[in-house]
Amino acid sequence: MIDVKPRELAILVIGPFNEPFDYLFEDSFHKISTGQIVEVPFGRKQSVGIVVGEGSGKVPKEKLKKINKIFEVGRLSDECIEFINFLATWNCVFKGLVLKMILSPIEAITSPKTSKVYRLNFRYERGNQNGNTLNLTPKKKLVTEFLLNSNSFSKGEKILQACNVSKALLRDMVRKNIIDEEFINELPTPYLNDVKKTKYENNKKLLNSHQISAVEKVNDSIRVKRSDCFLLDGVPGSGKTETYFECVQTCLDEGKQVLILLPEISLTPDWEKRFYDKFYFKPLVWHSNISKNKKKEIWLSAITGSKCVIVGARSALMLPFSHLGLIIVDEEHEPAFKQEETVRYNARDMAIYRATKSSAPIILASATPSLESYHNMKIGKYIHLNLPLRATGAEMPEINILDLKTDIPDKGRWISPSLLMEIKSNLLKKEQTLLFLNRRGYAPLTLCNACGHKIKCVNCETWLVEHKSRNLLICHHCGFSKKISNHCEFCESEGQIKACGPGVERIEEEVKCFFPKAKLAVLSSDTMVSQNLLIDSIEKIKKNEIDIIIGTQMIAKGHDFPNLTLVGILDGDVGLSGGDLRAAERSFQILQQVTGRSGRHALNKKDRGKVFIQTFDSENEIIKAIAKNNRDDFFKRELNARKNAQMPPYGRLASIILSSKQEKDLGNYALELLKFSPSFKNVKIFGPAPSPLYYLRGKYRKRFLIKSDKEVNIQNVLLNWIAKVKIPNNIKLAIDIDPISFM
Ligand code: ADP
Ligand code: ZN
Ligand code: ZN
Repeated sequence: MIDVKPRELAILVIGPFNEPFDYLFEDSFHKISTGQIVEVPFGRKQSVGIVVGEGSGKVPKEKLKKINKIFEVGRLSDECIEFINFLATWNCVFKGLVLKMILSPIEAITSPKTSKVYRLNFRYERGNQNGNTLNLTPKKKLVTEFLLNSNSFSKGEKILQACNVSKALLRDMVRKNIIDEEFINELPTPYLNDVKKTKYENNKKLLNSHQISAVEKVNDSIRVKRSDCFLLDGVPGSGKTETYFECVQTCLDEGKQVLILLPEISLTPDWEKRFYDKFYFKPLVWHSNISKNKKKEIWLSAITGSKCVIVGARSALMLPFSHLGLIIVDEEHEPAFKQEETVRYNARDMAIYRATKSSAPIILASATPSLESYHNMKIGKYIHLNLPLRATGAEMPEINILDLKTDIPDKGRWISPSLLMEIKSNLLKKEQTLLFLNRRGYAPLTLCNACGHKIKCVNCETWLVEHKSRNLLICHHCGFSKKISNHCEFCESEGQIKACGPGVERIEEEVKCFFPKAKLAVLSSDTMVSQNLLIDSIEKIKKNEIDIIIGTQMIAKGHDFPNLTLVGILDGDVGLSGGDLRAAERSFQILQQVTGRSGRHALNKKDRGKVFIQTFDSENEIIKAIAKNNRDDFFKRELNARKNAQMPPYGRLASIILSSKQEKDLGNYALELLKFSPSFKNVKIFGPAPSPLYYLRGKYRKRFLIKSDKEVNIQNVLLNWIAKVKIPNNIKLAIDIDPISFM
């Protein structure tokens, strides 16, 4: 922290700016330091910003505007400011927009929780000291005496209670200048205490030797404040969560803050309960759906540096921590860590930088690490914490491939005869089955049998998905919906509209038909519309009140269902042939996670869980690697392919995404940009090409893909390039560094 003595200060203001502006600071009583949050006049309005240093002196003093006020909520730490600069530079976004995310919710700063307090008016107090007391009614006298005895000030409620007077009386005293009314900020009090720790001690599981060795390594880094990056790599159920909980405790013992990032908030009910059972206090849960007041409280906890555990989706990384001791990124391979709008950034990657700057270790946990992290571990950048066995001692499941070319489901059905037999015998054993299909709704496509017309979205170039239970066709990209109808808009024929392909709703119909007595649960983002519903369903499954679970990706990870012994993957081919860089990796991860749900508590080989993967492509390398449980083999092959193509992690990638409502202008601008494209030996530029989803949410979209050698500063190349062509108002240009989605 530097004290900035000069009265001209550089302020980074919220908004699309990279450079700070100079302002005058006239208050000579207050000390001011970098990171302090201030209100400044900006244009015709007031804006919020932070002090980043001394003024540049470029603007004549008499023209400078004055800082209105300093907010008394604490300052952003130096690490936090460096983090803002880094995130902005790396992702080619404005620093002022990153600052906006950090200072959110802005109400936490501009109107923190305040309480009304009263103190004696100084004139009255002086008069009192001189012995010439005013003529006061007995009640008023009581109040002044109470305030005299309570040193500085007292809260309104307290006075009312202690003196048994009315609010009106206090107001009257304020009017007569006997007492002053003020508002003060209420900062949250640290909510952890050591009583809870004793409970934690009682609740400690005996860790196995792999877990202990992992915990010891991380604990060492926490204690000596070394910003190591750990890859906590273990099969599903190997005790990763249990392991990082131990490290959370160590960090709290050191009096520091812990941040745990989870990919999806759908994970939290189960997770939160587990956390509570372990620690006997609730973590602070941060995501977009919590109340404003809760957000304010968490934001203030972060900036004041109070000892706490904050768990949240990617945006929790933007909280103004000032005393971070440990970051955990659970399910680090998840694409949900990438924010795809406005400020594009990957929370996992940025978390690593943030930890480094805070001298805190970071744990990346996954049963199916991303290729990047696996590679970084192999070259020694990350420390490998390996948990090779299921913590409960359970056997790994037996994996079988079902060839849909020979094991053919009935017409209009999707479950093969062999899988049906397995479900039947599992029902007889009173054990649970999970059927996995990563498709929401009833059917992914609806078409007219008479003319072949496929029902599309009006805003996007995508098919509408049938949701039979809601009687709607819905676009999963923009939310457009319309009623299901039997009438073809194209050829006007009636009764020819047909659903094609399965979604989870349709599988539910099929399962009901074959096993009418079985108790079913469908878990997808359409059925699990509230947290409570999800909690209930998970509880029901755990209590064995459900026989067959049908679910999308939502069910793939995190959950531990003791009685689940059979997993059927209905469409093992989805994603295998998808053209983009990560299609193979993603399929592998999802398949491996779903298979990990089976037989989590089978203690001997004969009871071990079973997995059946239905596929049309039984010779596929990914399917084979899954069946053989041979992850390293898959990684090796995939890394090799990437190396040959100079793709990440061996090279660097970035995209430029152009979008516009005017198709023609978009085309012209893309060609104009192409004319100015840089030519360097180690940079390749592809495009402009229409996006795979060319028309989306009412806009046309084109993309450039830029590939470079690892050493190239790809950000600079891009910024210099686009600076050469002015962007028209009706075109939006976005830069995506390290893209994950290529749509
Ligand atoms: P992961 O996060 O790797 O999926 P978890 O931490 O959820 O694994 O552990 C899986 C299951 O094993 C949980 O029920 C957990 O309580 C249990 N478990 C974890 N560690 C141990 C241990 N050392 N001994 C016994 N059970 C354990
Ligand atoms: Zn038709
Ligand atoms: Zn749409």
